Amino acid sequence: MRKKIVAGNWKMNGTQEEGQKLTSEIVNMVQDERISDVTVVLNPPFIHASNVKKLIGGVDNIFLGGQNCSDKESGAYTGETSAKILASFGAKYVILGHSERREYFKESNEELTAKVKQALANDLTPIFCCGEPLEIREAGTHEDYVKEQLTASLFGLSEEDFSKLVIAYEPIWAIGTGKTASSDQAQEMHAAIRAHLASKYGKAAEETSILYGGSCKPDNAQEIFSKADVDGGLIGGASLKSRDFVDIIK
Ligand code: PGA
Repeated sequence: MRKKIVAGNWKMNGTQEEGQKLTSEIVNMVQDERISDVTVVLNPPFIHASNVKKLIGGVDNIFLGGQNCSDKESGAYTGETSAKILASFGAKYVILGHSERREYFKESNEELTAKVKQALANDLTPIFCCGEPLEIREAGTHEDYVKEQLTASLFGLSEEDFSKLVIAYEPIWAIGTGKTASSDQAQEMHAAIRAHLASKYGKAAEETSILYGGSCKPDNAQEIFSKADVDGGLIGGASLKSRDFVDIIK
């Protein structure tokens, strides 16, 4: 059985107070509403890590994650956070290769391979993002584009390492735009991603959780998540509102 996962990506949002309030509300709702069959991951800005971890406490289906980590192990890299540091604060997941990182911070496929390796070496589960821009979708070459992102960054991994990954498909034209992929578009791409992963890793790809991201909201999550190859979501805007986020999880 593939894990069902809903991960919140706070991006660069939330003061200390707001982050604590959001986390406590989510933790309380998940417990009060007895949600235990979904893995929930909170990915705040790094500086919130220790507060968020404390507030999660011993709840066994809610985890701390990062939004990025360095491709280097340690050393003189001002402003960076390594996978080892993140793990030492109790994180279990890390989002890698988000389209905003690829675009604004020029993260390359090779750099992402190094980040995935750092994450795995420190027992963090990478949530590896892929997805096409609007012009590629309109040209109809979106499947090839996404397959190439996966091949370039991941296909050097051993099967054992590959089996630890979570994939997130996030069409760039749907991120923060209020436009979602239709559930059929999501399913089509998720199935293509799984088939591509299976061409290299065989049966292991059957066990890989593939999350959808891009303007997921309580009123569209159920329809998108009901598709056979969609195993949950990576949620941006709606993860900043506790009620919306927990409704998506439900
Ligand atoms: P969104 O962002 O839900 O605000 O569209 C998703 C993401 O970028 O992870």
